[in-house]
Amino acid sequence: MPLESRQGENTPGTFRVLVVDDSAAIRRHVVQKLEPMSFHITEASSGEEALDLTLEQTFDLVVSDIEMDAITGVQLCRVFRADPSMADIGFVLLTAAKEATTRFWGRNAGADVYLAKEQMDEKLLPAVEALMKGRTPRDSIRPELNGTPLERVSAVLDHHLFDVVVQSEVRRLMDHAHDRIEFADKVLELAAEVIGCPYLVLHLLGPGGPTYSIRARGPWPKGKATAGLAALAIPERSADATHTTVVDDPKFGTGQTVIAGRSITCEIRARDEPLGALQVFGGTNCCAETDVRSLKLITEALGVVVKSLFLMEETQLLALTDGLTGLYNRRHASKRLEEEIARARRNGTGLCVAMCDVDHFKAINDEFGHSAGDHVLQGIANSLTEYVRRNDIVSRWGGEEFLVIFSEIKLTAARIVAERLRGRLASTPQVEGGPEKISVSIGLAMLGQGVTADALIEQADQALYRAKARGRNRVEVAGEERRSMPSTVIEKQGGAKRRSLPAKPTEAKQADTK
Ligand code: GH3
Ligand code: MG
Ligand code: MG
Repeated sequence: MPLESRQGENTPGTFRVLVVDDSAAIRRHVVQKLEPMSFHITEASSGEEALDLTLEQTFDLVVSDIEMDAITGVQLCRVFRADPSMADIGFVLLTAAKEATTRFWGRNAGADVYLAKEQMDEKLLPAVEALMKGRTPRDSIRPELNGTPLERVSAVLDHHLFDVVVQSEVRRLMDHAHDRIEFADKVLELAAEVIGCPYLVLHLLGPGGPTYSIRARGPWPKGKATAGLAALAIPERSADATHTTVVDDPKFGTGQTVIAGRSITCEIRARDEPLGALQVFGGTNCCAETDVRSLKLITEALGVVVKSLFLMEETQLLALTDGLTGLYNRRHASKRLEEEIARARRNGTGLCVAMCDVDHFKAINDEFGHSAGDHVLQGIANSLTEYVRRNDIVSRWGGEEFLVIFSEIKLTAARIVAERLRGRLASTPQVEGGPEKISVSIGLAMLGQGVTADALIEQADQALYRAKARGRNRVEVAGEERRSMPSTVIEKQGGAKRRSLPAKPTEAKQADTK
């Protein structure tokens, strides 16, 4: 039988306090310390007894010893905190232990006050006064609690362990933060393991986004992708960016079920910054309360991981691109060229490169200022990006020099494309306070057998050299030297001042005499 202190009446206006300690002497001591507060105090000599009492009555404050047999004060505190109907009850933990670990564990359990027993005389009353200030006695209607004390502790610990394992699994996704697609796949794989819904969507913003990755158990509705996306409130135009992994499992529904089904969305945030969202949806049986809880748990833990992915993407982007124009830099373009050459050889397709150099750019800088020059370069970069096909690669090769890699192209088409590109660049929108007109010379080179990336660039460079020599604002094609002027003429015209390229009199003469 629990002991009831005579200090206060168990009337509606009185705070009800539960004092738990396996030592009757300490319980008495605590009760004595709390005397000035006129609480209605109930005593329990173990954690089990305390939990049994919560089935019969409600409390406003618990003062509990930590070190007790079977159910400890820390476990007791966790059960209180985990139960929504008891989570706001004041909780004071007392300990005789001096070890840092016990203190850490006590604080971690979520107690409001944590006191060493030797400080009790001095600190317990003020701490309890501060804790109860502004509170009113809780409603005496007891919530529907059930289960034996051990079952309740075990359920709480199990939940807690589940949360910790999910959170740690989410953190392990950091291993895949170097690649967005792989990362998204792994996030969805984990979410699918934890959550029962058949369709999951991960929406990511950030430097590599926005992207939408979908994981579906069962076939994604054929021809209904857009309807599916609409059900997910994903803009239709983003369908291109969608990456879908379908895990076949015929027992799950079709598109119809999907659209009719329920869906839940949880935003992924780091502090106040929105980073994306995780959404689950499916038939009417999905999106249960446990799914909602798990989804929240995952998205909360994802914040810091997704933020790392974005930082990684930003770093990659900075290493790959040129600050002024946002185009790929020379280093990355060289790497891509090697890859594209290998691909062209494998597939037996044509590849060509166009080296584009702004004509008399130095004069533009001299006349209109360096900043206007910068704007001209940005304008050209935009024109280039808008002009080329999705698979073509545009880069800033040097100061006012741009390299475009055209893949899957034949020479006849390449010549037309390059000529159009020259026209397009010459009509790049005018820069405010800049030149009225600009022009660009282009050297075009088609990938031949056994030609390396360096050699291909060299061919394009030489073709560009001839374009400059033959009056600029024109396209010259590598391998068509016969139509070029001899280098002596080039010198006289004073046009060719390409830096590293030596004049090639022998070659030019040979070409000329053919
Ligand atoms: P050509 O027709 O023979 O190509 O003559 P050009 O004046 O265009 O060529 P040149 O190589 O003599 O000069 C290129 C100029 O580009 C010199 C350099 O100061 C300028 N430049 C290089 N990078 C930048 C940049 O990022 N911004 C600006 N505004 N100018 C740049
Ligand atoms: Mg130039
Ligand atoms: Mg130049």
